Amino acid sequence: MGVSAPPIQPSPPDILKESGQREVFCGLTSIVWLHRRMPDAFFLVVGSRTCAHLIQSAAGVMIFAEPRFGTAILGERDLAGLADANEELDRLVKDLLERRPEIRTLFLVGSCPSEVIKLDLAKAAERLNTQLLGRVRVLNYSGSGIETTFTQGEDNALLAMLPLLPSSDEEQLLIVGTLADAVEDRFRLIFERLGITTVRSLPPRRSTDLPPVGKGTRVLLAQPFLSATARALQHRGATLLSAPYPFGVEGSRDWMAAAATAFGVPTERFNAVLDPLVERGRRALEPHRQVLAGKRLFLLPDSQMEIPLARFLSRECGMELVEVGTPYLDRQLMAADLALLPPATQLSEGQDVDLQLERVRAARPDLVLCGLGLANPLEAEGIATKWSIELVFSPIHGCDQAGELAELFARPLRRRALLQLS
Ligand code: SF4
Repeated sequence: MGVSAPPIQPSPPDILKESGQREVFCGLTSIVWLHRRMPDAFFLVVGSRTCAHLIQSAAGVMIFAEPRFGTAILGERDLAGLADANEELDRLVKDLLERRPEIRTLFLVGSCPSEVIKLDLAKAAERLNTQLLGRVRVLNYSGSGIETTFTQGEDNALLAMLPLLPSSDEEQLLIVGTLADAVEDRFRLIFERLGITTVRSLPPRRSTDLPPVGKGTRVLLAQPFLSATARALQHRGATLLSAPYPFGVEGSRDWMAAAATAFGVPTERFNAVLDPLVERGRRALEPHRQVLAGKRLFLLPDSQMEIPLARFLSRECGMELVEVGTPYLDRQLMAADLALLPPATQLSEGQDVDLQLERVRAARPDLVLCGLGLANPLEAEGIATKWSIELVFSPIHGCDQAGELAELFARPLRRRALLQLS
């Protein structure tokens, strides 16, 4: 007998589509977590001083003696088409690789300025690969704000790695999406105890340690913003497992159940491994649930993690969902989470920031999940906020992290309650 996975119901019908002004970071932001994940890779943004400032501030104060990202600044002469930006880029890459022989993969990351002057980074990567004779692999992708929201940067980076993945029909579980190393280690241990022995990750910890892909690959997405990568893996023969994302106890259990079902793990074994984790996770949630239950939450579109988070916060923490916004809605990738949302949940796709702020002000929710740019104005109006970007940087996956995830939302409410008392 297999392990039961959640039933997939039809998606809620009520979706408000918006296409006005957006308030989101661009895909360059994802370099901050990708460079931590792959310490032997280097991310070279081909952009302007604005792009350089963005990643510096998104990463906080750089404490690394040798940071693993940088910006090839396009000067005014490049932007005016007066200089050969390609020559300058080649020279800069050679300098960098001479100084940093430990770099194994170099990502050339496109930006708004490089796209505006139509600098062909795919061609630049091809040229550099020929010159470097395989010593370093050069890949390219776009992190431009014209094309990407901040989490889509990871989708594009993984997509750029995909052609390098060897083909193999070996049976394996492939976890796709960046996880904190400690969380990944815990997941691997659980899968091992379930009897699923071949488990690989994309992105890998070493950029050259690329997993194979083929008919025996079962893909379990760890992050909900990897639509293009998921499609490309399916194109290579992999099967995409449908499951809620591993946020909270229920989501994490069902995510593991999807893998267990695909690999024929007996129910008794699954329960024996997962039940203690579920029990422990629920106990850790309890004190935060007491703060969150009955509170009204408005999720503004930013990270594409909003729908799974809304599912967790309503079902496991008792929060009331005023509106759940997402920058893009990929119905296939969100099917399991959508099916678990309360039936009349108001969903919105896309952004028209002024209209959304009007709805927030009219609803006066207890908490708003939003991008950094909107947090300060809302706080100034007396509305508590949570930065969605913090959720990408925090280890929030798995039953063991459910308490910490809930705490991230309970903290601003506790702080506000204290301020009101004093
Ligand atoms: S890529 Fe575009 S949106 Fe991002 S920092 Fe550079 S100029 Fe700004």
